[in-house]
Amino acid sequence: MKISIFKSLKFKIIFLFVVLVVVLVAMVYFFMHLGVKNLEENLIGNRLEADINYIEDLIGDGEWNVKDGAIYLGDTLVGDGTEENANLAPFLEHEEKTGTFSYVFIKCSDEGLTYLPDTDTQEGYQEGHFLRVAGSTKNPNGESIVGTYISKEVADELDENGTYAGEANVAGGRIYCLYNVLCDAEGTVIGAVVVGRSVSELTSQIDGVSRSILTSVVITAIILLAVIDIIISGWTRSLQNIGRQMNDIEIGNLPEEKIKVTTRDEVGILVMRMNSLVESLKENEALRIKAETDALTGIANRFGLTRFSGETFEYCYHNSKTFAVGFIDIDYFKPYNDNYGHQAGDECIKMIAEILKDLRKRKDMFCARFGGDEFMLILNGYTKDELIQIARELKENVEKKEVEHLFSPTADHVTISQGYSFGTPHSRQTIDDYIHIADDALYRVKESGKNSYTIKNFIEGSIVRD
Ligand code: GH3
Ligand code: MG
Repeated sequence: MKISIFKSLKFKIIFLFVVLVVVLVAMVYFFMHLGVKNLEENLIGNRLEADINYIEDLIGDGEWNVKDGAIYLGDTLVGDGTEENANLAPFLEHEEKTGTFSYVFIKCSDEGLTYLPDTDTQEGYQEGHFLRVAGSTKNPNGESIVGTYISKEVADELDENGTYAGEANVAGGRIYCLYNVLCDAEGTVIGAVVVGRSVSELTSQIDGVSRSILTSVVITAIILLAVIDIIISGWTRSLQNIGRQMNDIEIGNLPEEKIKVTTRDEVGILVMRMNSLVESLKENEALRIKAETDALTGIANRFGLTRFSGETFEYCYHNSKTFAVGFIDIDYFKPYNDNYGHQAGDECIKMIAEILKDLRKRKDMFCARFGGDEFMLILNGYTKDELIQIARELKENVEKKEVEHLFSPTADHVTISQGYSFGTPHSRQTIDDYIHIADDALYRVKESGKNSYTIKNFIEGSIVRD
């Protein structure tokens, strides 16, 4: 029985595995992406804290203070929001050494709170009151952003918490930033400092890590799939072989070869059981054949005959085919035996058996030694004319052998007599009826001179004689 590929065990297992892998990959990608992003942000956050200290060291010593609208660190001017007073050197040095941009703001009144229209590089936003006085970054057009305000969103955070960490829009680009307010000696907030690095760089790093994890998951899945395919193929091959052998056994063919045990699991055990079942069936079959075979001639004996004739009779009955029984008996075998010896008698019996074996080349024919010098033929689907043909052929073949028999009144060589019955079995008939009629037919031949044949039609009772 052929199973469609979609209903096969292999397809179902591989389909489940692929679904599992897809779900796993999606989950790994999602959680890793999230996890790696958090990790990176924490690492960057820590680094940015150090960067703030570093930029302060580079600018100078002392306290942050404001004089004449400009912000100072100790005595070092940082800037007042104009290009000419911006002290850019420490910020550029900082960026060069750390790869991190930095900026210092001076806190102004709320006058700076306006809304700027959209530009090519950034969406319009309300600005807060922290004015950029000096730093390393330029906008995408290469212009300094000294004199511009930070967003109101970040300014509000700084007003409230004194710090802000996260993404911010700086000079038209998304940057991961850390802002801290700057206080003077009295603790008044007078400005802010920011350090940060591009989010696109961070995102590409996260994507890189996620991609490597994803690639390893996919490669592992492919390797696992190959292993699963090998294992399942072993199982399905074994199961298919078991199915094929069961089918063979069902139609009466015992498998010649054992199924190869390829797996040491439940399927492997099943294969071993199947092999031992086939072995014991073979042993039984060998015993049955031995029990049903005549030792002298090698053809079937009475036991074999009984089983086969019964099966053939049933078959002919159910399929409305003609069934025929033929008795073959050596003429004057007793005097042959008595005069030529028992061994010569055996040879003579074997000679007749060989001729019958030759006859078996025709299909649907079975021969057996009935006992002593008597043989029986069981035929299915033969017409009367075909039976006549067989009887003649047998008679001629025995005569052709010209086995000397000087003690036979019929001929100077061994001859046989044959009696046949045939018909299409119906419910009131039994196989014994056919045997009885064939025996009666043989008796008539023996009575009327031997070395001949008689064929009796069971229904019409008609007799054909040579
Ligand atoms: P008919 O022409 O009427 O058939 O007479 P017959 O002499 O052939 O018949 P009968 O049944 O009297 O003789 C059969 C003989 O076959 C008797 C027996 O000694 C012999 N016989 C039976 N089995 C064997 C055997 O296996 N080997 C040998 N050599 N002889 C056997
Ligand atoms: Mg005889």
